[in-house]
Formats: sequence, C-alpha cells, structure tokens
Amino acid sequence: MERVIQRFLDYIKIDSPTGEEREFKERLKADLLALGLEVFEDRAGEKTGSNSGNLIATLKGDSDKTILFSAHMDTVSPGRGIKAVIEDGIIRSDGTTILGGDDKAGVSAIMEMLTVLKEENLPHHNLQICFSIWEEGGLLGSKYLDYEKLQADFGIVIDSGGAPGETVVQGPAQNKLHITFKGKAAHAGVAPERGISAIQIAAEAITKMKLLRIDQETTANIGSIQGGGPTNIVTDRVTIHAEARSLDNEKLKAQTDHMVQCVKDAQSASGLEAEIEVVETYKAFHVGEDSAPAQAVKAACGKIGLPFVPVKSGGGSDTNHFNENGIPSVNLGIGMKNCHSLDEWIRIDDIVNTTRLILEIAKK
Ligand SMILES: [Zn+2]
Repeated sequence: MERVIQRFLDYIKIDSPTGEEREFKERLKADLLALGLEVFEDRAGEKTGSNSGNLIATLKGDSDKTILFSAHMDTVSPGRGIKAVIEDGIIRSDGTTILGGDDKAGVSAIMEMLTVLKEENLPHHNLQICFSIWEEGGLLGSKYLDYEKLQADFGIVIDSGGAPGETVVQGPAQNKLHITFKGKAAHAGVAPERGISAIQIAAEAITKMKLLRIDQETTANIGSIQGGGPTNIVTDRVTIHAEARSLDNEKLKAQTDHMVQCVKDAQSASGLEAEIEVVETYKAFHVGEDSAPAQAVKAACGKIGLPFVPVKSGGGSDTNHFNENGIPSVNLGIGMKNCHSLDEWIRIDDIVNTTRLILEIAKK
C-alpha cells in the first residue's frame, strides 16, 4: 500500500471533532518536528474555545518564494472511533461514522509531500504549513489565526471535493442572520385581542423573503425556526437562524438587506422591535487564473499530466480567510465525496495524485 494511505488510515483513527483537536495536533506536531520543521502553535484555541491552537510550521528552502500549504485538523460529527473499510481502491467508513477524509486526506497529502522532500533531499521553495482548528461550523481557526506568523507569497489549501487538478479560484461570502420576532403573550381563548402573535409576524416576514437560489451567484436559507408553546397562549417570541451567501460581496449585502427589511416590515405594525443580528462569517474571494497560486497549480498539473480545471465553489473554507488576510490562495480538490455524511468516501488514487501534485508545487 502507498505510504500516504497508511498515514491517512493512522490519522483518521485519532478523534478530532471540532473544538477537540489537541490529540491530533500533538501527533502532527511530533511528525513535523521529526521532519525537521520549526513548529509554532498560535493562541486561536483560547479565542475559539478549542483545546488546541492552529499549528504553523516552517521549512526553509533555497528559494525567494514562500508557499503556504494548509488543511484543517477538525472533523464533523459523528466522527469518534472511525473504522475504515477499503474496497476496490475506495476508502469509506463502516457506516456508523463519517470517514474524516475531510480534511485528513489533505493533512496526509501535505505530510507525505514533506516526507518525500526530506527523504529524497529535493530542492524546494520555502514552505509554511498550516494545520487549522475549527474549520467546520464557522472557519473560526483561520479567522483567529496568528497571521503575523504567515509570510507566504501564496497559499494552497487542500480541502475540496473535486478531482485532483480541480482548483477552486472563487468562493462565496457568507452572512448569518439571527432574528427574534417579538409579540405579546395573552390567553388565546379569553383575551386573544390583547396578544400579538410572534408566529404570525415571523410567517409574514418569511413569506415575503426571497430564499434558496437567488441568482447564479447568490443563495439564502433559513436553517431553523423556534418558538411557541401551549395552544392557549399567544406566542411572544420566535427566533430564526438564517444565512445568505454570494460570490459577490455587493449582492450579499443586497440579499441581507432584503431579508432584514422583510423582518422590519412584518414587525412594524406591532409597535415592537425585532432583535436582528447580522454576523459576517467570511468574505468572498476571486483569485484570477493568472494569480500566483493558480499558475503554480497549473504548471504542476502540466508536469504530472493532470488536467488543471479552475472552478468556483458555493462553500466557504479557510481559503476565504487566507485571501482576506492578504495571502492569495486557492483550494485544491482531493476527491472527498459525500462529506459530512456516513456515506463519505475517497479514492486511494485521488489521495496519491494530490500528493504528487503538491510535491510538484513545492519542488524547485
Ligand atoms: Zn473540510
């Protein structure tokens, strides 16, 4: 079996649900130190509530170029006690957990690339490695990353579902909306006219909202709605949690403003004010095909015979925050399929080919 696959199988055995990355972090730290990298752990753990910070490792090369390679350490649930099943060149879980290919396939490819560089004593660029915490559920690790420690000219994130060579060059911005509609409680049978139903107000607002697919670049969704109690009481509070995304920051603003306006309009007749909180989760990015990271991927693809396919994605990733913090970055496909589900699987060949690809990018 390819060594990178053995490494992957070892890594997915180490539980690392979001916020509990410490044990996996310790293993990676030891592995990086053994390869001669300088390793630093930042303080993002304290800011996010995780038991670990982000790992940032550096390997000097003989080059005036510094390249960042990044993957995230955390996995979604249920991700404890993962047992891999290998069949016909495909690795999946035993069906009771996720596999954790998202993103331990990326982590494994980076570690194998470093191992080969060292083993074969290959000339390479200056390399920085970032293994982040808390990517799932909010990109908090890369949000609170100590960017002082990153001096990379550009970044290669390995955390996408496309085939090796498929490269995300454009990603959306996301806003989250937390809204509480206000009503007035009253006995629904005895004195309903004294009550104001927050459920009716919420229903009116939601009915007016443009949701789901807004246009080619923009989406919006309500994830949950909570409120109410016994039928004999007019409901005084309903809370919804919603999101909007767009590849275009202006369009995101327009959609967010529209949703907020629907809330205000529906609430206005009651004489009460809704609580509206809008949180900017991350900003959109668009690195051109002629950008340094896209060019580096394209050149490496050419050398090892993989098709270079630039794509845009509807999902957020650490790539968004690297770009926002001045490190032009792209997100490489590693063929992870059905992520965040018990049916998650990945091809052995895709992990192997991604390793070959990033080795080519790192080499001089
Ligand atoms: Zn991921």
